[in-house]
Amino acid sequence: MSKYVIAIDQGTTSSRAIVFDHAGTIVSTGQMEHEQIFPQAGWVEHNATEIWDNVREVIAVALAAGNLTRHDIAAVGITNQRETSVVWNKKTGVPVYNAIVWQDTRTQYIVEELAANGGVDRYKERVGLPLAPYFSGTKVKWILDHVDGAREAAEAGDLLFGNTDTWVTWNLTGGTDGGVHITDVTNASRTMFMDLETLAWDDEILADFGVPRSMLPEIKSSSEVYGEVHSSQLLREVPIAGILGDQQAATFGQAAFGAGEAKNTYGTGCFLIFNTGEEIVRSKNGLLTTLGYKLGDAAPVYALEGSIAVAGSLVQWLRDNIGMIATSAEIETLAATVSDNGGVYIVPAFSGLFAPYWRSDARGAIVGLTRYANKNHIARAALESTAFQTREVLDAVNADSGVPLTELKVDGGMVANDQLMQFQADLLGVPVIRPKVTETTALGAAYAAGLAVGFWNDLGELRANWSEDKRWEPSMDTAERERQMRLWQKAVTRTFDWVD
Ligand code: ADP
Repeated sequence: MSKYVIAIDQGTTSSRAIVFDHAGTIVSTGQMEHEQIFPQAGWVEHNATEIWDNVREVIAVALAAGNLTRHDIAAVGITNQRETSVVWNKKTGVPVYNAIVWQDTRTQYIVEELAANGGVDRYKERVGLPLAPYFSGTKVKWILDHVDGAREAAEAGDLLFGNTDTWVTWNLTGGTDGGVHITDVTNASRTMFMDLETLAWDDEILADFGVPRSMLPEIKSSSEVYGEVHSSQLLREVPIAGILGDQQAATFGQAAFGAGEAKNTYGTGCFLIFNTGEEIVRSKNGLLTTLGYKLGDAAPVYALEGSIAVAGSLVQWLRDNIGMIATSAEIETLAATVSDNGGVYIVPAFSGLFAPYWRSDARGAIVGLTRYANKNHIARAALESTAFQTREVLDAVNADSGVPLTELKVDGGMVANDQLMQFQADLLGVPVIRPKVTETTALGAAYAAGLAVGFWNDLGELRANWSEDKRWEPSMDTAERERQMRLWQKAVTRTFDWVD
């Protein structure tokens, strides 16, 4: 029997391939960044062809690094940046436009048009999401409305739509030569088009958006054999057997399988997912209702999600746009030189504010500046903004669920930052816990694929793989914690109503 599973993590800033063994330990990896294309303020695109080329390349790198062949690999799992939308021609395999990325806000006017009749929550009961530029729906509509000939081609049945899981799977399984056009329930739940109860596309919403159903992938579970690899010799005939959107994959990789378990991932953005089991919980506090996972024919597992658009990308912005630091890690050095934020708060509402506010009219602000404040305070405030946003999301989760979380499992690139994690525990008042394997996103996708082919037998076996690496205990007193939150919330109000 093959000894490993490979996960492809098609993320916002890079694509990775990671090979895992049966214990869930990383054997080898390959990683390549792709270009972030910003054609104008508020627009964010990726070149989908570059992404596919990179995926093939990172597979080769990971296999070579582990000295592995396709015979060593039992299955391929895929995880991906969610909502990012690709539309391509099924006869040529060529995208008709760049992928429109989840952070892109160009479709705000479509949201307003659709919300004119029934408000932003008009589909929320059915799909769990408010109308927002974040989700795939308005992005597909934009492409059909703006790319020459796209609508005609779509109506003629020549165009396909997918998030990057679908794009990568279609290409891996043969592309124009018999590629499989599918997605899983977790990705489908981010489009605005899938009914949470039936797990099928909603024809009425599709008609309102003017998106032909023929473009949409078939919705599958998160763990089953979808097809085999045909386009890459390196993995030829290896089954593709698991797909989970990145945040759901991280939840799965953290072994948060049961109702009441949660994780928070600190990457480009920050995403807290709270498992609600087989129950669909409708948020009254600005959270999304989404699919957690579905294993083959078993009942679907649902989740509440608090999405934060900007977390690590604020650190990147200080590095790339402001030039304050040379590497992301340097933020820690600057922030460590001061004992507090000096009264400075940064609200990084670059693409509006997501959970729990959902204000697309918000724009970023730095407030509380005095002659005393220096760049070290700004570095500290930048880190703290992620912790403040997380606290607000956790408050919403606690209010919706009625049962306060007693600890938070964390992962993602920013959890390397000790200071941030300590501040996070201080602000939440509960311990923050990091597992040994922090590549939980890739691990979750590997788990989903491995379960489908019998590489792993059950969830208990996966749970046994999880182990704690480090834990931060809260040490801030309650009065100070609440004072910080008050100032933060005041800062947030300063970002509202900023779009003409
Ligand atoms: P994604 O999967 O969303 O592409 P990652 O989980 O790889 O992102 O996390 C990368 C993010 O973490 C980047 O935005 C980067 O700026 C940030 N980051 C990396 N190291 C640190 C650090 N030491 N302190 C703060 N932020 C960091």
